Amino acid sequence: MPRTLPDAPLRPATLLVRGGQNRSSFDEMSEALHLTSGFMYETAQQAEDTFLGNITHYQYSRFGNPTIEALQNKLAALEGAEACRATASGMAAVHAAMLSHLKAGDRVVASRALFGSCHWIVSTLLPRYGIETVFVDGTDLDQWRDAFRKPCAMVLLETPSNPMLELVDLPAVAEMAHAAGAIVVVDNVFATPLLQKPLTMGADVVVYSATKHFDGQGRVLGGAVLGTKKWVDEVLTPFIRNTGPSISPFNAWVVLKGLETLHLRIPAMCASAAKLADFLATRPEVSRTLYPFLDSHPQQALAKKQMSAGGTLVTFDVAGGKEAAFRVLDALKLIDISNNLGDARSMVTHPATTTHMKVGAEERARLGINDGTVRFSVGLEDVQDLVDDLTQALDGLRTKAAGGGKTGEVPRAASPAR
Ligand SMILES: *Cc1c(COP(=O)(O)O)cnc(C)c1O
Repeated sequence: MPRTLPDAPLRPATLLVRGGQNRSSFDEMSEALHLTSGFMYETAQQAEDTFLGNITHYQYSRFGNPTIEALQNKLAALEGAEACRATASGMAAVHAAMLSHLKAGDRVVASRALFGSCHWIVSTLLPRYGIETVFVDGTDLDQWRDAFRKPCAMVLLETPSNPMLELVDLPAVAEMAHAAGAIVVVDNVFATPLLQKPLTMGADVVVYSATKHFDGQGRVLGGAVLGTKKWVDEVLTPFIRNTGPSISPFNAWVVLKGLETLHLRIPAMCASAAKLADFLATRPEVSRTLYPFLDSHPQQALAKKQMSAGGTLVTFDVAGGKEAAFRVLDALKLIDISNNLGDARSMVTHPATTTHMKVGAEERARLGINDGTVRFSVGLEDVQDLVDDLTQALDGLRTKAAGGGKTGEVPRAASPAR
């Protein structure tokens, strides 16, 4: 008999290291990578019984695979959810969660501050299928209340949001949503399951991009949807089985290995992010610093109620708009320019010209994204090296402003060491 985990409830660190264990008959220590598309049957009868559902037997990796199941079981245990389905990407998770549940004639209410592709699904894709969609300012409970005057099938929201780190009051919105007949889907990528547990605050479904903090080392795409066993079995699973957004066993295996250190990485990244937010707030070249646990954040109290730490992202405005922001990004010698996040390597993004280019200037203005806005995903480097890198980049801006030369214009691509 393979050893099973103790019955007593295990703590998050233990679940991240050992949860979901699905050993094969070879008793391997590390999870086996079952890189196989299909499975075989001993007899024709076994195949028939499998398809009848009389016995449990893997059939095909689009439906199920031992490595993928290990990931799903680990994530479900960590989230405190009854069931989980892993997907090929975070967007596959969001898309499957929404399209498996919705039908023509339904109404969806979403917070406006969403990841770019989630915004596209709500604003552009769903209306094509006869689904009415309404955006609200997620921070404004009156707008949510107004939107729920008509029946609603689903709410999609992100808290904290990308990239402006706005909070949505989860228990308040969930209560109103349920009264209007909706299920609440929360994109919990920015908080991770270690900092925020939406299911304990009224959410029905939680979605993740495993590409971000779960892998944590920038290697593979992946996603996950978590909810009740009934909803996952009856609504989500038939959609995934028949439309195919399944994760590759290889990617699932990489994410499993990444998760073993999530409880060490997230607190370290949060501690650095809090220090960097404090640092940025003191800089005259920075006109605004946003971080959920910062005293100046308008929703700090709500953030402290819903989250156990402020997260791994800091957003700030460089005074002087796009030109100044570009000069700061280009002057960074350590921190990379990338649209990814949640990586061990620190990265900066200029949302107005990348992740949020397609939403248009008007919507960006509504979201509070301006041409100087920079999103900073804080990694695992020594925080003092990150402070030093930002210091020299911001100092360069002042040198130029004072007419003192080209310090801020060191071309980053020139060094082959990068
Ligand atoms: C990255 C991200 C997604 C999409 O995930 P992919 O793995 O890139 O498909 C969705 N929501 C948020 C908040 C994200 O950061």
